Amino acid sequence: MRRRDWLLSTAATPIAAQAMQAAPKNIVISSANGRNACKKAMDVLKAGGDTLEAVVQGVTLVEDDPNDTSVGYGGLPNEDGIVELDASVMHGPTRRCGAVASVRSIKNVARLAKMVMEHTDHVMIAGEGATRFARAWGVPEINLLTERTRMAWMAWKQSMRDGEGRNNWTDGLDAPDKKQAAALRQIFPGADDEMIAWAMEMARHPTTGTINCLALNGKGEMSGTTTTSGLAWKLAGRVGDSPIIGAGLYVDQEVGAAGSTGRGEENIRMVGAHTIVENMRHGMHPREAALDALKRIARNYSNDEKKLNQFDINFYALRKDGVYAGASLWSGRVSRGYMASFQFAVNDGGESRLEKCVHLLERKA
Ligand code: ASP
Repeated sequence: MRRRDWLLSTAATPIAAQAMQAAPKNIVISSANGRNACKKAMDVLKAGGDTLEAVVQGVTLVEDDPNDTSVGYGGLPNEDGIVELDASVMHGPTRRCGAVASVRSIKNVARLAKMVMEHTDHVMIAGEGATRFARAWGVPEINLLTERTRMAWMAWKQSMRDGEGRNNWTDGLDAPDKKQAAALRQIFPGADDEMIAWAMEMARHPTTGTINCLALNGKGEMSGTTTTSGLAWKLAGRVGDSPIIGAGLYVDQEVGAAGSTGRGEENIRMVGAHTIVENMRHGMHPREAALDALKRIARNYSNDEKKLNQFDINFYALRKDGVYAGASLWSGRVSRGYMASFQFAVNDGGESRLEKCVHLLERKA
């Protein structure tokens, strides 16, 4: 064997034999908020489009949607009330990647991450520099905060208390007593009861979100993207796992792709997406590969379920033969009084569907 061939063969170390042989097919998976995104990406694949273009067009729908408060326009803001977005992309065929972090005023950050990949000699651009890069390419700037998310942020600001029980963001001591809902109604006269209740719920229990979307086409090409507004009320400049290549996203089209949603701090510490792809490279099924990553997170807390119960994290894995899995740390979370299982979206050519994630730990109601 020539030295070059030997080097190439060791780079593509063993993955399950059936995965090496199976014929590739069009398939897109994503986090549960991505049914429309998967459908859009599938349409692009069917039309012969590139896998990265497919997932970016898919998640753009979610970034544009003001009702998804975890991604793009209408994402929940940082503690200063400013929306800061993170995103990454990875293109299997060229093995290139791009990322942006803490971006303000730009809505479609997955597209911006792709522009970093395509038009710069860098992999990641952060903060003001990312906005300036977008401006240089003529990308329009907008205010990413909606009235809905501004209200949730205001409700959160009003819910904070110092040691004396005071808060400068609520009425003064000399003001007549008022319930928070009434105070919010005064500030946002156009808001209905549902919106006020939602804002107060977000202040207490901000939801996590993000969309990770992974695609495989009939030629065996794979790409992925992850885009998010990150954790609600985060410190300004906090960067999560979504734009970190290897943590929030990793693609090796010789093996597969993986991505994550949920508390990014846990993922960054164990580089989840890369871990999952490496697990698949060494022969694990996507389901076992993702569960193994979750076990590493649990191990970082010595399997202390009280601590682990304070956050959620999910992984998504797609192998090069089209076998896939979604896996969550916990079986579900309480939503509107019910325990809802974690799910993920799949499209293999028709309508998108939701499938249940496998989970590591059982959460009691
Ligand atoms: N993973 C995202 C982050 O940590 C947040 C999320 O998915 O909810 O920024």
